[in-house]
Amino acid sequence: MRIEFHGADRGVTGSCHLIECAGTRVLIDCGLYQGGRELDEENAEEFGFDAGSIDFVLLTHAHLDHCGRLPLLVKRGFRGEVVTTSASRELLRLMLLDAAHVHEEEALRRARHAGRKGAWGAAAPLYTIADALHTMDFVGLTAHYGTPMRLAAGISATFLDAGHILGSASILLELAEAGTHRRVLFSGDLGNVGRALLRAAAPPPQVDAVVMESTYGDRLDKPIGPSVEELYQAITGAFARGGNVVIPSFALERAQELLFYLRAGAESGRLPDTMQVFLDSPMAISATEIFARYPECYQPETRELFRAGRDPFGLPGLHFTRDTSESVALNRVTGGAIIIAGSGMCTGGRVRHHLRHNLGRHNCAVVFVGYAARGTLARRIIDGAESVTLFGEEIPVQARIHTINGFSAHADQAELLRWHAATRAPRTFLVHGDAEVMECLAARLERTAVEMPILHQQYTL
Ligand SMILES: [Zn+2]
Repeated sequence: MRIEFHGADRGVTGSCHLIECAGTRVLIDCGLYQGGRELDEENAEEFGFDAGSIDFVLLTHAHLDHCGRLPLLVKRGFRGEVVTTSASRELLRLMLLDAAHVHEEEALRRARHAGRKGAWGAAAPLYTIADALHTMDFVGLTAHYGTPMRLAAGISATFLDAGHILGSASILLELAEAGTHRRVLFSGDLGNVGRALLRAAAPPPQVDAVVMESTYGDRLDKPIGPSVEELYQAITGAFARGGNVVIPSFALERAQELLFYLRAGAESGRLPDTMQVFLDSPMAISATEIFARYPECYQPETRELFRAGRDPFGLPGLHFTRDTSESVALNRVTGGAIIIAGSGMCTGGRVRHHLRHNLGRHNCAVVFVGYAARGTLARRIIDGAESVTLFGEEIPVQARIHTINGFSAHADQAELLRWHAATRAPRTFLVHGDAEVMECLAARLERTAVEMPILHQQYTL
């Protein structure tokens, strides 16, 4: 009985962990490395195991850093079954198609740059839209929260609500091999308690070993109330100055959460109900539609809004701008608009155009509400860069920059410690965190042996 670590090892992206038990090989997540172009090569590298030997992939949730290498796994010979919740399955399709589109565009750009026509040549994308669609053929069994599923002799899996994004799960594996029994719990990404939309993570069971994320293992989040207030102030401030508000946002969860709070702000009179809000992300628009299909996943108050026939994500001045032409038209809007666009870390997507048109204007505001990895444009702006380069043009940072931490979709240190204590795990593997953050969290973990695996490291369970 063995566990191997093939991603998110002393880093926050590329989650990929392998369990081998009684002749069955199960992968927990198969995520993409994210954060900058230089990671393309890292994504294209060998997995560290034979893709064709994997029987099951259990997917914790549909964020790309957990699912984004699945098409590559299929391309390299995986013929097993992907198991996840039904909300994750819908979101997975959306995320993979979008990622494939980005890879194709990037490859085309490289091919054009190299003066090639037609064939990709050496500039081939990591995977194509066709690869992403083909991957969905392998998504089989649907997991239901709290219901154990027997995968093979000696292996059963139970998905537990992780409260992180719609459909997200922690996964309990019950393993048996040659008279040895082990209960191993994978946290997946754990949500932040006290949020308006999703339920909090389910209480974890007692286990022999835990594989735990540590994204925010060194910090304590501010409560959501003051963060919402900060958001409202950033917006009313920019409007008073006659400018726009640009909010770089992840398409999943954060975008819907923002819409939820903007609606609440307009209803309570904290925000002008005449404000124009543009959700300028085809993926966020599609995700919002998927979110509306799973009212049972939400907190009771939000569920009640659905039941009363009111859209928790709808407000009078909201525009969904799917078409590129509609997005480009936003460049002419000089004030009074809130533009929510991806990518959240500003590494690509429409938000870069909006930054180009608004970042250099002192009456505008840019509001960061999500995680920004090192090396990303978002991180450079947050860290106080005086100017940034966008589309070959140097743009001075004149807009007011707000960084609001309370919207985190990740548990903070206190929540991680509380969750961990409930597992009573004598053995802990920390993943999905920067090394120094892990060290900080490890120092606070009690009555457990802590490991911080490096890439491709293996342990006997
Ligand atoms: Zn996540």
